Amino acid sequence: MTNISNSEFIFEALQKEFPGAHCELEFQTPFELLIATMLSAQCTDERVNQVTAVLFSEANTPEGIIALGLKELENKIHSLGLYHNKAKNILAASQILSDEYGGKVPEDIELLRRLPGVGRKTANVVVSNAFGIPALAVDTHVFRVAHRLGLAAGNTPEKVEQELMEAFPRERWSTLHHLLIFLGRRICAARKPNCAECPVAAVCKMFQEDIAEP
Ligand code: SF4
Repeated sequence: MTNISNSEFIFEALQKEFPGAHCELEFQTPFELLIATMLSAQCTDERVNQVTAVLFSEANTPEGIIALGLKELENKIHSLGLYHNKAKNILAASQILSDEYGGKVPEDIELLRRLPGVGRKTANVVVSNAFGIPALAVDTHVFRVAHRLGLAAGNTPEKVEQELMEAFPRERWSTLHHLLIFLGRRICAARKPNCAECPVAAVCKMFQEDIAEP
Protein backbone atom coordinates (compact mmCIF):
# COMPACT_ATOMS: atom_id res chain seq x y z
CA MET A 1 0.00 0.00 0.00
CA THR A 2 1.38 3.41 -0.91
CA ASN A 3 1.61 6.50 1.25
CA ILE A 4 -0.10 8.93 -1.12
CA SER A 5 -2.28 10.50 1.58
CA ASN A 6 0.88 11.92 3.14
CA SER A 7 2.37 13.26 -0.09
CA GLU A 8 1.47 16.87 0.74
CA PHE A 9 3.04 16.62 4.21
CA ILE A 10 6.17 14.97 2.80
CA PHE A 11 6.61 17.65 0.13
CA GLU A 12 6.14 20.53 2.59
CA ALA A 13 8.43 19.00 5.23
CA LEU A 14 11.20 18.35 2.71
CA GLN A 15 10.90 21.85 1.28
CA LYS A 16 11.33 23.24 4.78
CA GLU A 17 14.34 21.00 5.41
CA PHE A 18 15.98 21.63 2.02
CA PRO A 19 14.72 25.04 0.83
CA GLY A 20 17.48 25.36 -1.73
CA ALA A 21 17.33 21.85 -3.19
CA HIS A 22 18.69 22.06 -6.71
CA CYS A 23 20.64 20.22 -9.39
CA GLU A 24 24.15 19.71 -8.01
CA LEU A 25 25.77 19.28 -11.41
CA GLU A 26 27.36 22.55 -12.50
CA PHE A 27 26.40 23.86 -15.94
CA GLN A 28 25.91 27.07 -17.90
CA THR A 29 24.10 25.78 -20.98
CA PRO A 30 21.71 22.90 -21.85
CA PHE A 31 24.56 21.19 -23.71
CA GLU A 32 26.83 21.36 -20.67
CA LEU A 33 24.07 19.86 -18.51
CA LEU A 34 23.50 17.09 -21.05
CA ILE A 35 27.18 16.17 -21.05
CA ALA A 36 27.51 16.45 -17.26
CA THR A 37 24.48 14.17 -16.78
CA MET A 38 25.86 11.62 -19.23
CA LEU A 39 29.14 11.67 -17.31
CA SER A 40 27.43 11.23 -13.94
CA ALA A 41 26.53 7.54 -14.43
CA GLN A 42 27.98 5.61 -11.47
CA CYS A 43 29.87 8.64 -10.32
CA THR A 44 29.34 11.48 -7.83
CA ASP A 45 28.28 14.94 -8.97
CA GLU A 46 31.29 16.36 -7.15
CA ARG A 47 33.74 14.36 -9.26
CA VAL A 48 31.84 15.19 -12.43
CA ASN A 49 32.02 18.91 -11.59
CA GLN A 50 35.80 18.68 -11.17
CA VAL A 51 36.17 17.07 -14.59
CA THR A 52 33.70 19.29 -16.44
CA ALA A 53 35.30 22.46 -15.05
CA VAL A 54 38.36 21.56 -17.11
CA LEU A 55 36.54 19.96 -20.05
CA PHE A 56 34.07 22.83 -20.60
CA SER A 57 36.81 25.45 -20.44
CA GLU A 58 38.13 23.83 -23.60
CA ALA A 59 35.03 22.38 -25.25
CA ASN A 60 31.43 23.16 -24.28
CA THR A 61 29.63 22.84 -27.63
CA PRO A 62 28.94 19.83 -29.87
CA GLU A 63 31.45 21.19 -32.39
CA GLY A 64 34.06 21.65 -29.65
CA ILE A 65 33.62 18.07 -28.45
CA ILE A 66 33.86 16.76 -32.03
CA ALA A 67 37.06 18.75 -32.52
CA LEU A 68 38.57 17.12 -29.43
CA GLY A 69 38.14 13.64 -30.90
CA LEU A 70 37.68 10.35 -29.09
CA LYS A 71 41.15 9.87 -27.62
CA GLU A 72 41.45 13.37 -26.19
CA LEU A 73 37.91 13.21 -24.80
CA GLU A 74 38.72 9.88 -23.16
CA ASN A 75 41.82 11.40 -21.58
CA LYS A 76 39.82 14.27 -20.15
CA ILE A 77 37.09 12.11 -18.58
CA HIS A 78 39.25 9.11 -17.72
CA SER A 79 38.97 9.54 -13.94
CA LEU A 80 35.17 9.18 -14.00
CA GLY A 81 35.10 5.50 -14.95
CA LEU A 82 33.25 3.89 -17.86
CA TYR A 83 35.18 6.51 -19.79
CA HIS A 84 35.34 4.66 -23.09
CA ASN A 85 31.58 4.19 -23.43
CA LYS A 86 30.86 7.65 -22.07
CA ALA A 87 33.26 9.27 -24.55
CA LYS A 88 31.89 7.24 -27.46
CA ASN A 89 28.29 8.22 -26.64
CA ILE A 90 29.11 11.89 -26.00
CA LEU A 91 30.94 12.12 -29.30
CA ALA A 92 28.13 10.39 -31.23
CA ALA A 93 25.49 12.56 -29.52
CA SER A 94 27.50 15.70 -30.32
CA GLN A 95 27.69 14.68 -33.96
CA ILE A 96 23.89 14.26 -34.15
CA LEU A 97 23.27 17.57 -32.36
CA SER A 98 25.64 19.31 -34.78
CA ASP A 99 24.27 17.62 -37.92
CA GLU A 100 20.54 17.58 -37.14
CA TYR A 101 19.82 20.26 -34.54
CA GLY A 102 22.14 23.09 -35.46
CA GLY A 103 24.25 22.41 -32.39
CA LYS A 104 21.31 22.96 -30.03
CA VAL A 105 19.88 20.55 -27.46
CA PRO A 106 16.21 19.74 -28.27
CA GLU A 107 13.64 20.64 -25.59
CA ASP A 108 11.88 17.33 -25.98
CA ILE A 109 12.26 14.17 -23.92
CA GLU A 110 11.62 11.80 -26.81
CA LEU A 111 14.09 13.55 -29.13
CA LEU A 112 16.70 13.57 -26.37
CA ARG A 113 16.21 9.86 -25.76
CA ARG A 114 17.14 9.15 -29.37
CA LEU A 115 20.67 10.41 -28.67
CA PRO A 116 23.26 7.68 -27.96
CA GLY A 117 23.69 7.08 -24.23
CA VAL A 118 20.68 9.20 -23.24
CA GLY A 119 18.04 7.33 -21.27
CA ARG A 120 14.84 8.50 -19.68
CA LYS A 121 16.56 9.71 -16.50
CA THR A 122 19.09 11.86 -18.35
CA ALA A 123 16.43 13.30 -20.65
CA ASN A 124 14.25 14.21 -17.66
CA VAL A 125 17.15 15.88 -15.87
CA VAL A 126 17.94 17.99 -18.94
CA VAL A 127 14.42 19.16 -19.76
CA SER A 128 13.58 20.01 -16.16
CA ASN A 129 16.80 21.78 -15.20
CA ALA A 130 17.79 23.37 -18.51
CA PHE A 131 14.34 24.21 -19.90
CA GLY A 132 12.06 24.37 -16.85
CA ILE A 133 9.78 21.61 -18.15
CA PRO A 134 8.25 19.62 -15.27
CA ALA A 135 9.83 16.14 -15.17
CA LEU A 136 10.68 13.56 -12.57
CA ALA A 137 13.99 11.82 -13.13
CA VAL A 138 14.27 8.65 -11.04
CA ASP A 139 17.85 7.89 -10.07
CA THR A 140 19.08 5.52 -7.38
CA HIS A 141 18.31 8.00 -4.55
CA VAL A 142 14.80 8.84 -5.76
CA PHE A 143 14.06 5.14 -6.29
CA ARG A 144 15.26 4.13 -2.81
CA VAL A 145 13.68 7.00 -0.87
CA ALA A 146 10.34 6.80 -2.71
CA HIS A 147 10.12 3.12 -1.74
CA ARG A 148 11.11 3.71 1.87
CA LEU A 149 8.61 6.52 2.25
CA GLY A 150 5.91 4.39 0.70
CA LEU A 151 5.34 6.83 -2.15
CA ALA A 152 5.99 4.14 -4.75
CA ALA A 153 6.14 0.38 -4.95
CA GLY A 154 7.14 -0.24 -8.57
CA ASN A 155 10.17 -2.38 -9.32
CA THR A 156 11.56 -0.23 -12.16
CA PRO A 157 12.48 3.48 -12.38
CA GLU A 158 9.76 3.91 -15.03
CA LYS A 159 7.08 2.54 -12.71
CA VAL A 160 8.29 4.69 -9.79
CA GLU A 161 8.32 7.75 -12.04
CA GLN A 162 4.72 7.04 -13.03
CA GLU A 163 3.60 6.55 -9.42
CA LEU A 164 5.25 9.78 -8.29
CA MET A 165 3.76 11.71 -11.21
CA GLU A 166 0.32 10.49 -10.19
CA ALA A 167 0.87 11.34 -6.51
CA PHE A 168 2.12 14.91 -7.01
CA PRO A 169 0.85 17.78 -9.16
CA ARG A 170 2.84 18.43 -12.33
CA GLU A 171 4.26 21.75 -11.13
CA ARG A 172 5.94 19.93 -8.23
CA TRP A 173 7.67 17.18 -10.17
CA SER A 174 11.03 18.89 -10.72
CA THR A 175 11.25 20.21 -7.16
CA LEU A 176 10.23 16.82 -5.75
CA HIS A 177 13.04 15.20 -7.74
CA HIS A 178 15.60 17.50 -6.07
CA LEU A 179 14.04 17.12 -2.62
CA LEU A 180 14.16 13.32 -2.74
CA ILE A 181 17.76 13.39 -3.95
CA PHE A 182 18.76 15.78 -1.15
CA LEU A 183 17.00 13.52 1.38
CA GLY A 184 18.71 10.44 -0.04
CA ARG A 185 22.16 12.02 -0.09
CA ARG A 186 22.05 13.82 3.22
CA ILE A 187 19.82 11.77 5.54
CA CYS A 188 18.35 8.60 4.04
CA ALA A 189 21.61 6.95 3.00
CA ALA A 190 21.40 3.54 1.36
CA ARG A 191 23.17 1.57 4.09
CA LYS A 192 22.50 3.66 7.18
CA PRO A 193 19.49 5.96 7.08
CA ASN A 194 19.64 8.62 9.78
CA CYS A 195 15.99 8.32 10.80
CA ALA A 196 16.53 10.23 14.06
CA GLU A 197 17.26 13.38 12.02
CA CYS A 198 14.66 12.81 9.32
CA PRO A 199 11.87 15.38 8.96
CA VAL A 200 9.44 12.85 7.47
CA ALA A 201 9.98 9.93 9.86
CA ALA A 202 6.49 10.41 11.29
CA VAL A 203 4.94 9.32 8.01
CA CYS A 204 7.73 7.14 6.58
CA LYS A 205 6.50 3.65 5.74
CA MET A 206 9.84 1.96 6.42
CA PHE A 207 10.41 3.81 9.68
CA GLN A 208 6.93 3.16 10.98
CA GLU A 209 6.90 -0.51 9.98
CA ASP A 210 10.50 -1.61 10.59
CA ILE A 211 12.36 0.85 12.82
CA ALA A 212 10.11 2.75 15.24
CA GLU A 213 9.50 1.18 18.65
CA PRO A 214 5.92 -0.12 18.97
FE1 SF4 B 1 14.76 7.29 5.25
FE2 SF4 B 1 14.48 6.85 7.87
FE3 SF4 B 1 13.64 9.16 6.79
FE4 SF4 B 1 12.34 6.92 6.30
S1 SF4 B 1 12.56 7.92 8.31
S2 SF4 B 1 12.91 8.48 4.80
S3 SF4 B 1 14.01 5.40 6.22
S4 SF4 B 1 15.77 8.42 6.92
